[in-house]
Amino acid sequence: MHRFDAQAADLVRAICDFARVRLGFDPVPLDAPLSWDELAAAVGSTITAEGIGGRRALEVFDEELSRACISTDHPRNLAFIPAAPTKAAVLFDLVVGASSIYAGSWMEGAGAVFAENEALRWLSDLAGFPACAGGLFVPGGTVGNLSALAAARHAARSRLTAAGRPTPPRWRFVCGAEAHSSLYQAATVLDTEVVVVPTDDAGRLTGPLLAEALDRLAEQDGAQAVDGVFAVVATAGTTQFGTVDDIRGVVDVCQARGLWVHVDGAYGLAALAAASTHSLFDGIAETDSFIVDPHKWLFAPFDACALVYRDPAVARAAHGPQRAGYLEVLDSAGAWNPSDYAIGLSRRARGLPFWFSLATHGTLAYGRAIESTLATARAAALQIAALPYVELVREPQLSIVVFRRLGWQAADYQRWSENLLRDGFAFVPPTVHEGETVARFAIVNPRTTVDDIGAILATMA
Ligand SMILES: *Cc1c(COP(=O)(O)O)cnc(C)c1O
Repeated sequence: MHRFDAQAADLVRAICDFARVRLGFDPVPLDAPLSWDELAAAVGSTITAEGIGGRRALEVFDEELSRACISTDHPRNLAFIPAAPTKAAVLFDLVVGASSIYAGSWMEGAGAVFAENEALRWLSDLAGFPACAGGLFVPGGTVGNLSALAAARHAARSRLTAAGRPTPPRWRFVCGAEAHSSLYQAATVLDTEVVVVPTDDAGRLTGPLLAEALDRLAEQDGAQAVDGVFAVVATAGTTQFGTVDDIRGVVDVCQARGLWVHVDGAYGLAALAAASTHSLFDGIAETDSFIVDPHKWLFAPFDACALVYRDPAVARAAHGPQRAGYLEVLDSAGAWNPSDYAIGLSRRARGLPFWFSLATHGTLAYGRAIESTLATARAAALQIAALPYVELVREPQLSIVVFRRLGWQAADYQRWSENLLRDGFAFVPPTVHEGETVARFAIVNPRTTVDDIGAILATMA
């Protein structure tokens, strides 16, 4: 039976119209933030005892609130890591919302979990993981890294306990000097130390540098310190430069020492799907876990991070199942409950927009779309090399291009960037590398053209 009252029917129309207009923009308006006071003046008070009605609330969102949010999918938004969800993915996000699915357990969300796992299988196969590998979609790379590291520590502790060895005084994991800030947050939550290994000239953590750091640790702090090292994180595409660590070298060192290798590929592992970059990730098939965010470079809306374990049973030993009388019914033998593999219990079926888009367009289209952003980044690097007033800070490996405007100070970059945003033309905030303010393009949107890049570079002349 289907029944809408007049108000609900009107709201269905209004919401679908909004989605139609937003998805039809080419390009979308870039928009820009307002101050708290400006928003308060424009919006006033929306939460009232009687409600302002869906029409009015939508109007406020459309005309005021949404316009005070920068569009992450604008083709000249090259800030941080922007987003470029397909229309299929965005539309399916509406479907997920309309379906009221609880995707924490197989019992309640079997169909959704099955489809999510199909999408995870594609990623897992790209990485060369075995058929028994598996995982789930968590809200973001931060939760993904934390969950994987929690599983790695649990495994290390269990191994020591089983061998009758004492628990080390400090737990530590290792990463390269250019690894993501979320790892430090994970270290705080897990109450562990981070052993930061200096990188090579290209910004990579390599096998030899890792081995040297581990040996030094053993010399300085003794065997107990070595027992305390429970994982090494290799970054597959740093956020600042898109640099991929020497995963093969890291794996070799870690296999010899029985260490868990986690790959943080939140941004960069999407490039596993592109033939021209696939070999950069050599060695990943032998790691223990990885993350990649479909909301970054895999054309899905926020918030979705794929977390995949080589041996999910090890992760389940660390994370699940949560114990409570009312949860016992969920824990039937053999059921795949996503909540057992990461921090969290209740789950949106947040992998479904990615699954739907992948099913709609096919995996080849993903490879092509990622190749096209890589080609744009390479063209950007060539343009920068050809212009007299800018120079590359490093040769890009993936789709992030970092460069300096000769003669500019931090304030010049700041003013330039603010002007671009104020004009609604582009969003390209500067970044800081080794104390120097420089410019940075992160290109994940296939709609970003070489002409867009040229037009932005022209504003620096
Ligand atoms: C973005 C990013 C993260 C964090 O991911 P969120 O989805 O923002 O939580 C972790 N690692 C790397 C390399 C990233 O680029």
